Amino acid sequence: MASSPYRGRLAPSPTGRLHLGHARTFWTASQRARAAKGTLILRNDDLDRDRARPEFVTGFLEDLHWLGIRWDEGPDVGGPFGPYSQSERSEYYADVFERLQRTGLLFACTCSRRDIQQSAGAPHAADDEPLYPGTCRSQGKATLTTRTAWRFRVPDGETIRFCDGQLGAQTLVAGRDFGDFVVWRPDNVPSYQLACVADDAAMGITEVVRGADLLVSTARQILLYRALGWTPPDFFHCPLVTDEHGVRLAKRTDSASLQRLREQGVRPEDLQAKWRLTS
Ligand code: GLU
Ligand code: ZN
Repeated sequence: MASSPYRGRLAPSPTGRLHLGHARTFWTASQRARAAKGTLILRNDDLDRDRARPEFVTGFLEDLHWLGIRWDEGPDVGGPFGPYSQSERSEYYADVFERLQRTGLLFACTCSRRDIQQSAGAPHAADDEPLYPGTCRSQGKATLTTRTAWRFRVPDGETIRFCDGQLGAQTLVAGRDFGDFVVWRPDNVPSYQLACVADDAAMGITEVVRGADLLVSTARQILLYRALGWTPPDFFHCPLVTDEHGVRLAKRTDSASLQRLREQGVRPEDLQAKWRLTS
């Protein structure tokens, strides 16, 4: 039972099997919650209708159990902050969207992915989206078609600073490291950024443990917290796991899925021992 205010979360997306990178991040999250004698929440990030599959929910539950990770609240065990699957929280996201809309910081964007790719020349993090060129920023009220996205206008040139629990002082510049980002998608679904902030806030998360590939998203999310008048949680970004060639493990390549490793006879304690040495 929790005896401290620490609340951490595991937020897998059921769009593929978990790999070693996820395992390491989730193991770290569970260890930090345990060390703080806090509460660990499992949230099912199943907003991506095209890619989320029920068998991957079964898959991550199986993989997390195999790793020896236990949680106090989640879609399988319930809890006071449910529902714990994002697909069941649409009304709440709509409220948060309304609240953001009232700040005047959103604008409707009718650009296609192709438009953006063609006019975005600026560099951006390798696995992040291209910098939005600002095309619709000053557009009056766009005609709301079914293909309209809503973007958050970032304060160009402002440095976003935070102290990361693992990586130390971080600085990212709005408009340079990331541009105006989508908060509501053209298919009428909240974006990852909005849903994540909405849920981490509503679920009382005090520390977000995630992979270092999400550092830029953390900066975006800090801006959303500020616009909403909410206090951001603490952040702890875990090093990315790469294969023997230094290539980042993507969910797409099934090579290092925990399922595969388990079948090959790898034991969770082998992985944990390795992480203890390198963390
Ligand atoms: N479901 C997201 C992912 O797997 C969560 C990331 C996060 O905010 O920690 O990438
Ligand atoms: Zn646009």
